[in-house]
Amino acid sequence: MPWCEECAKYFTPNSVKTDGSCPTCGDTIQLPDGHDHDGDSEPVDESTPWHFKLMVFMVVAYLGWRFLDLFV
Ligand SMILES: [Zn+2]
Repeated sequence: MPWCEECAKYFTPNSVKTDGSCPTCGDTIQLPDGHDHDGDSEPVDESTPWHFKLMVFMVVAYLGWRFLDLFV
């Protein structure tokens, strides 16, 4: 989340000016180091890895089996 040191407050990416400066004091807003896990600043387009799909499939299959098991 963008952080202004002058105002000592956080801003939502939408409230920051388009040039990346603080709407209150005009100072350049510090962007956090590393990766932003809410992904607002830089959208990460990573395709779903196959093992994740396999895992989801296994979970769904397992839950479906458990669900059917309730009625047998
Ligand atoms: Zn500010």
